[in-house]
Amino acid sequence: MTKKTTPPKQSIGNSHFLHEACQALGYDEQVFALLAGASREFKVQLPLLCDDGSLKIFYGYRVQHHNALGPYKGGLRFHPSVDMQEAHTLAALMSLKTALVKVPFGGAKGGINCDPRSLSRRELESLTRAFVEKIHRGIGPNLDIPAPDVGTNEQVMAWIQDEYSKIYGYTLGVVTGKPILIGGSQGRTEATGTGVAIVMQQHARHQAQKLEGKTVVIQGFGNVGTHCANAFKRLGMKVIAISDSKGALFDEAGLDLHAICQHREKGKPVSTYPQARQISNQDLLKLPCDFLVPAAMGNVIDGKTAREIKAKVVVEAANSPTTFEGDQVLMERGIPVLPDILANAGGVIVSYFEWVQNMQQMPWEKNQITEQLTTKLSKASDEVFAVATGKQCSYRQAAYLIATQRLRDAVATVTI
Ligand code: NAD
Repeated sequence: MTKKTTPPKQSIGNSHFLHEACQALGYDEQVFALLAGASREFKVQLPLLCDDGSLKIFYGYRVQHHNALGPYKGGLRFHPSVDMQEAHTLAALMSLKTALVKVPFGGAKGGINCDPRSLSRRELESLTRAFVEKIHRGIGPNLDIPAPDVGTNEQVMAWIQDEYSKIYGYTLGVVTGKPILIGGSQGRTEATGTGVAIVMQQHARHQAQKLEGKTVVIQGFGNVGTHCANAFKRLGMKVIAISDSKGALFDEAGLDLHAICQHREKGKPVSTYPQARQISNQDLLKLPCDFLVPAAMGNVIDGKTAREIKAKVVVEAANSPTTFEGDQVLMERGIPVLPDILANAGGVIVSYFEWVQNMQQMPWEKNQITEQLTTKLSKASDEVFAVATGKQCSYRQAAYLIATQRLRDAVATVTI
């Protein structure tokens, strides 16, 4: 596989990686266009009567990429950055992720262009229910199954399931990542973070290295970042820096994660925790460490940042944190990247387990979830490492080769 490639003329978001894989697999431009584009997209207007009597207009988006491998599946993001292009990029990424880890789902993504932190609970609930009212014909347990992502959580999923159930009757399986009490799964909240640690363990085995004592820097301390940090701590690793949107914290000796979580529970940004050094979000990315784990937003590692990174390995807990240029710089500098479609796939794997439990009306025990998650992710990791070794390419290129071929074969079976 060549290390450099010409970016595609038709580029939806960051589809360069997909284009590169299509070229390496010998697919023509029409196949690339088929895989890069989405089957369907929705954009709906969401007027919200705010608590102070004012009217605000938001927009909701859902992009359904491909469903040849199963119902569309992907997160709902509530963040001011949400738009159609972001949804397209992340929906395609979901199709590749589910193909790579062999869960029988297609890819989707969406959300609302709002800042949930600036909304009251009533406003957030109204906005969520209004979104379901507008898109309910496009979602469902055998059609499209949303899940939490940035700015959403199990409460938002509960409102979606309830609103959908008002129309179609009680429907488990229309969303995953919901509270256990109403059909959620054991282990779903922490699944993405747990999965990141499983992939790192498998990588360490592959390299005949130990994770114990290794230093980690995590960008983003939300659902994924927090559970990554907890999992790393259990493995004896040292988390030396974390951040949220307001700033970052650093302690060479290792941060007291428990105390920081208690500080956050009082409603304070993690960066205001007084017993560690405050640094900027940009400086966090440049800290010397064994592992840098972006666990927040997309495109944070561009070409410039990639030249300044001092981590030995980058682990993409976030979706699409590295631009195509950033990836090429990291490759040239010999810094391996455990790519998003592998590293953060634990979330969609346990979402699949949740959906299976919902369809069977039969809850699983936590140890069954952990065991099957570990098996699935370890197998997918081994496959990626084997292809990367065999083809002398990066882990991302290997993951894209496997996923693109699987997706193309499935799409071809029903389309071409
Ligand atoms: P979240 O909303 O729970 O947390 C996001 C965190 O990122 C927050 O701490 C926020 O303050 C922080 N943040 C935002 N902008 C930042 C910036 N510029 N610098 C530093 N921190 C910043 O969201 P999440 O569910 O933890 O998702 C994080 C990432 O993981 C996203 O890319 C998401 O797509 C991806 N992901 C999530 C899941 C899941 O199961 N939730 C699964 C797979 C991938």
